[in-house]
Amino acid sequence: RKLGYAIVGLGYYATRVIIPQFANCRHSRLAALVSGDPDKARRYAAEYGVPERSLYDYRSFDRIGDDPDVDIVYVVLPNSMHAEYTIRAARAGKHVLCEKPMAVSVAECEAMIAACRAAGRTLMIGYRSHFEPHNLHAMKLAREGAIGRRRYVHAEHGFVAGDPGQWRLKKALAGGGSLMDMGIYSVQAARYLTGEEPVAVTARASTDRSDPRFAEVEDLIAWTLDFPSGAISHGMSSYSSNHNRVRIAGDRGRIDMEPATPYAGHSLRLVRDGGEQRLAPPPGPAVNQFVGQLDHMSESAASGGAPIVAGEEGLQDMRIIEAIYRSAAEGRTVRI
Ligand code: NAD
Repeated sequence: RKLGYAIVGLGYYATRVIIPQFANCRHSRLAALVSGDPDKARRYAAEYGVPERSLYDYRSFDRIGDDPDVDIVYVVLPNSMHAEYTIRAARAGKHVLCEKPMAVSVAECEAMIAACRAAGRTLMIGYRSHFEPHNLHAMKLAREGAIGRRRYVHAEHGFVAGDPGQWRLKKALAGGGSLMDMGIYSVQAARYLTGEEPVAVTARASTDRSDPRFAEVEDLIAWTLDFPSGAISHGMSSYSSNHNRVRIAGDRGRIDMEPATPYAGHSLRLVRDGGEQRLAPPPGPAVNQFVGQLDHMSESAASGGAPIVAGEEGLQDMRIIEAIYRSAAEGRTVRI
């Protein structure tokens, strides 16, 4: 049987990217919608065949526990709301897929993991690159020695933020600036390409506080992560310039991805032995990264097995993000 999803928050990512993908899923289907805007909920319900009884708002949300059609709650709200809706979903007895960043603090991530554990429910974070063929192939090549001993990762993510009124630029809703939204991809890439956990971070931030977009959150932030093997990663994120690039270099070659983590149109190059090849990776687990993610969540929930990007993965990134912020604020190296 296909597991039923309730989508919480009907914004851009939920409605334009995720919801259309249920049509391609083998183990997942759209079962319910949760929105503060009843007209919007009804519109999408009509488009995707969700019955009226399966529409919830933020107050009636907890009644979802009585809805046998819903197995999994997918939280696609602004970052500061992830913890509350994950915990309420777990208490209602549902499995949870939560968007990145998992929450806005380590303490919230720990509370989310504890709530899902206490309820005996699966918690997964929306790290779609773990289901994307180019990123999966880069991980495999790096792990299997294609570039020799892994020494250095360079990772850049950013875009030019527009409307100063958007939630991404409000500290209370976003938890932070470009690091929370985009830098998290740079942190993830450094971890999944080195296969190591950083032990220290040294960071610098640069934000024009007279720019109305950046009154509350950081724009540019850059950091160095030190790994136990001696490998180093330079990472950055920005809300004032466009970036989507990852490189890992070893003592026998390097892998370049640009763009590295888009919705589609990835590129992967292997540079080795004096030559450069553009690689077409073998197919991933599903027709695309979004379907792979949804169906992996469903299979994990059905089997009780740990998802490959469980809550602990989101917690680890949040520990690193907090250390990056602390290092930038205090102007010193912070041990993780
Ligand atoms: P969005 O602004 O398009 O959607 C947010 C939704 O939350 C809207 O429907 C809005 O009405 C609703 N909402 C409820 N309470 C709100 C409040 N108090 N303030 C503002 N909005 C409120 O944002 P989005 O781009 O869809 O991002 C949603 C989440 O998904 C974020 O956590 C983001 O990091 C994540 N995301 C992930 C990816 C990815 O590739 N994995 C891509 C985009 C967004």
